[in-house]
Amino acid sequence: MIRGSLTDHKGRCIHYNSDVDIVSYRFPNDPHYYPCFQCYEAIHGHFPRNKYNISSEEHAVVCGACKQTIAINEYVQVNHCPHCHHQFNPGCHDHFHLYFNMN
Ligand SMILES: [Zn+2]
Ligand SMILES: [Zn+2]
Repeated sequence: MIRGSLTDHKGRCIHYNSDVDIVSYRFPNDPHYYPCFQCYEAIHGHFPRNKYNISSEEHAVVCGACKQTIAINEYVQVNHCPHCHHQFNPGCHDHFHLYFNMN
């Protein structure tokens, strides 16, 4: 389900693996979730090109702690999982453009 250079079963990878790095992302026409854009690039040879809009209700985000999916438009407004309340990395906000179309 989650593709990448994972270091545990909660969505942490060799690039991002602090306590709060537990979110993975999905893209259109691809059933897999990726823990970060570098993991995606390692597999596909480029960063994600085909992305959901940041206002989308698509459940393209998964919490690695509880494995529940989160709608994009909800995920971008919270700093913790709405299901299990595990904290997310606030630094992810600086990278939203890599995972979602911003317009
Ligand atoms: Zn990674
Ligand atoms: Zn959760």
